Amino acid sequence: MREPASLRFLGATGTVTGSKFLVSTGEGKLLVDCGMYQGDRQLRRRNWMPFPGPAHELSAVVLSHAHLDHCGWLPRLVRHGYSGPVYCSPWTAKVAPIVLLDAAHLQEEDADFAARGRYSKHNPPLPLFDTADAEKAISLLQPVPFGQTIGVAADIDVTLHRAGHILGSSIVEVHAAGRTVVFSGDLGREGHPLLNPPEPLPGADAVVVESTYGGQTHQPRRAEDLAAPVRRTLAQGGSVLIPAFAVDRTPVLLMALRELVRTGELPSVPVYVDSPMALAALEVYHEAVREGGPEIRRRIHELAPDPFDPGELHLVRTVEESKRLNDPHRPCIIISASGMATGGRVVHHLQFMAPNPKNLILLPGFQVAGTRGRSLLDGATALKMYGGYVPVRAEVLGFNEFSAHADANDLIGWLRTAPRPPKTCYIVHGEPASSQALASLVQSELGWCVVVPQHAERVLI
Ligand SMILES: [Zn+2]
Repeated sequence: MREPASLRFLGATGTVTGSKFLVSTGEGKLLVDCGMYQGDRQLRRRNWMPFPGPAHELSAVVLSHAHLDHCGWLPRLVRHGYSGPVYCSPWTAKVAPIVLLDAAHLQEEDADFAARGRYSKHNPPLPLFDTADAEKAISLLQPVPFGQTIGVAADIDVTLHRAGHILGSSIVEVHAAGRTVVFSGDLGREGHPLLNPPEPLPGADAVVVESTYGGQTHQPRRAEDLAAPVRRTLAQGGSVLIPAFAVDRTPVLLMALRELVRTGELPSVPVYVDSPMALAALEVYHEAVREGGPEIRRRIHELAPDPFDPGELHLVRTVEESKRLNDPHRPCIIISASGMATGGRVVHHLQFMAPNPKNLILLPGFQVAGTRGRSLLDGATALKMYGGYVPVRAEVLGFNEFSAHADANDLIGWLRTAPRPPKTCYIVHGEPASSQALASLVQSELGWCVVVPQHAERVLI
């Protein structure tokens, strides 16, 4: 008798980071996503734990998309001995290298900085992985177009479908030993200005769905919500700092700012994109707009010549240019990474801009508990950085309208597209209250068997 297909939850349970799911049969093992844990120290410590089982025994890895919490542990897996294929969509294969190299660079920099400041627990401080590991991981990426089925073991195959969350993001459909399990990855929303919405949910025995905003509904995206606070800040001579996820939020914010300047709702001011990763990703987004294809909205061509230029766009490349922005001669808007202010150039901008009450800090992305972004959102009056504290007197505003994630209604709407109910629906990738809220909603709205799995739990599909 053949071994039944099983599913093990190795990450993104009780939290929004560290996505890792293992599908096993008698013939092979497929790891769906290989994400890094971010946020508080206890979670980040899990990044240092070994992979459960020999990494070289995995038949393949498949990535839903290029965000760090879905692909960022790949270089570590490589360090643990993995050297097989890593399947992903063609645009993910272009964006993931940018993300992985940036992550390696940050790891190396942090270890180096901690060594100099002597505040690390490791002695000497170590990076989780380095550039060489990231490069090895990148060499394993194998692009697979949406809708094309790839065999990864004798009885396991994988098909990717469009998820509409960021460029290249995919819903992952896995057939294993006669069973089907579908992973939502991160799901986008109907109103994305650049990307088409997610494809319907294929029929499956098990569905694994994200719940980042499982307990919330987003406000409708109104231009004025962004325009009003920015206009107010600029008028009083302050500047605006937007910590943004480099890969998708930066292009989307630039499109929104462009529209506000075009309609006269915002004055034209210099807009600086200060993140090497954001600039590299912006190039890939430009390429995607030029090529079109199934992901890109057809009307995007109406925004020629450059959908991402609000008028006075400056691409900040060097560290010196970045530091000069700390003393701006006129009010400006700075978009910088990382999106949760856990690292990157945005941290030194925060150091200079947070103490000034004239300034505005806008947080457009989800802020994981334990990050500086979350502390800001929760009203912190001082922020810890570079081993000391910086006062926060600037205005701070969260901005869920610009989230790349589906909200509770979007998630239920997507689950409703299933041609038949799954045997079980597993809710992952959410803080406990969000996952629980979505679970209740799935139960009451759809009547499905729904479970919020535990970390490391294993189930038969
Ligand atoms: Zn994501």
